[in-house]
Amino acid sequence: MQELSHFIDGARVDGTSGRFADVFNPATGEVQARVPLASKAEVDAAVARAAEAQIAWGATNPQRRARVMMAFVQLLNRDMDKLAEALSREHGKTIPDAKGDVQRGLEVIEFCIGAPHLLKGEFTDSAGPGIDMYSMKQPLGVVAGITPFNFPAMIPLWKMGPALACGNAFILKPSERDPSVPLMLAELMKEAGLPDGVLQVVNGDKEAVDAILENETVQAVGFVGSTPIASYIYAKGCAHGKRVQCFGGAKNHMIVMPDADMDQAADALVGAGYGAAGERCMAISVAVPVGDETADRLIEKLVPRIEKLKVGPYTAGDDVDYGPVVTAAAKANIARLVESGIAQGAELVVDGRGFGLQGYEDGFFVGPHLFDRVTKDMDIYKTEIFGPVLSTVRAQSYEEAIGLAMDHEYGNGTAIFTRDGDTARDFASRINIGMVGVNVPIPVPLAYHSFGGWKKSGFGDLNQHGTDAFKFYTRTKTVTARWPSGIKEGGEFNFKQMD
Ligand code: NAD
Repeated sequence: MQELSHFIDGARVDGTSGRFADVFNPATGEVQARVPLASKAEVDAAVARAAEAQIAWGATNPQRRARVMMAFVQLLNRDMDKLAEALSREHGKTIPDAKGDVQRGLEVIEFCIGAPHLLKGEFTDSAGPGIDMYSMKQPLGVVAGITPFNFPAMIPLWKMGPALACGNAFILKPSERDPSVPLMLAELMKEAGLPDGVLQVVNGDKEAVDAILENETVQAVGFVGSTPIASYIYAKGCAHGKRVQCFGGAKNHMIVMPDADMDQAADALVGAGYGAAGERCMAISVAVPVGDETADRLIEKLVPRIEKLKVGPYTAGDDVDYGPVVTAAAKANIARLVESGIAQGAELVVDGRGFGLQGYEDGFFVGPHLFDRVTKDMDIYKTEIFGPVLSTVRAQSYEEAIGLAMDHEYGNGTAIFTRDGDTARDFASRINIGMVGVNVPIPVPLAYHSFGGWKKSGFGDLNQHGTDAFKFYTRTKTVTARWPSGIKEGGEFNFKQMD
């Protein structure tokens, strides 16, 4: 069994706490590695070393920092296959999906190559007689990212790229479920020319997270994960005076209008509902057809598509649609919620219970489930299931459909399928959800826009990646400079107006 490590000061370093977590191969159910769980002392030492390393990195000109990003992009492309394999082995997602995970992170690194431009401040020439005024965007110092299991490449890259390009040192606390790829990313950053100590990967659990939140040197924390932990980290991080942004769970609704192309809508729902076994924060977990006739047509199109889905290990080739869920506990939780749906009166149209795969009996596979006639009071509607379970809620009107999405406590993503531009525009304008798709089921914004949910899906006031990330990882200093002669003639004691 492999023993994983931390990545400190440019090298893999063994843990010293004596505590470990098992890392599974979800396809076989076997423990394939164990990862050390850092103690508070280990976190504090990693932060202290990062603070030393940040001084020179922050003073390095932005173009040189951008060149490290440029080299890093090349290395990510070079090692794409290796990264995808390691990712699938620990996460369970298919190889093409794992490559997508790396790719969507890599695109944010590409965006960060523009750091010299993005870090330019504002300048006012002659704000007053002999006075210039300018602002600088300066790094915060040491910042940290705490990331979830479901995108072990993309989300660490979304955090480390902008943080480092802005001149910060970065502490990454990845998910303990799939820590190998984050360690590989740190090695590639070193190979790309990042100085030692500027990027530290500290593996761990709550103890490491609390140590980060309590450490006075850490200036900002970016978190992605489930909503209860997001709200805990937001509150605790803010209480410790840090800048904090936390992205949480989701329950994404896709509204299907009667005029939608029903084949297109069904294809979109199958991909968005079951891809990555539903373990995406932008997965569609609720279909809302408008009108009973639309619902009947949609279900009729969905059922054969869902029954044809191929579930298997990532090693079985590219025609596998989705793999296992991440842990036995996740599998048991999904099964429990499915039973609650049945008990509370939903109609299980496609029954994935009892799904088995010969040779992988101990793997964490879950068959696809489709519920119809789900109602607002059911647990399967209120809870993020994070599995291959799609719920259909029948709405009788567009207003009822948009109201459902608006009333739900989560507000990460949503989509509407329609041929009517007016309905689509109204939906995009009124909906209280952060990311909206029009005939696009998973509207994940590209790297040069920004990503973030509303309501219980996002805490804090800036989004991830895009220009928001450059705001989050820098602070503004504004300088008022006066260079005429004559200042020596006497101090000014009144608050001056610019005239
Ligand atoms: P999680 O909340 O269990 O874990 C996320 C991180 O928090 C991990 O690094 C974990 O070690 C740490 N953590 C877990 N319990 C903790 C505790 N008690 N105290 C302090 N830290 C703790 O989430 P997960 O299961 O890894 O990821 C799935 C969740 O993430 C889903 O809810 C999904 O919707 C969400 N997610 C959201 C986004 C987004 O951008 N909104 C993106 C991806 C995933």
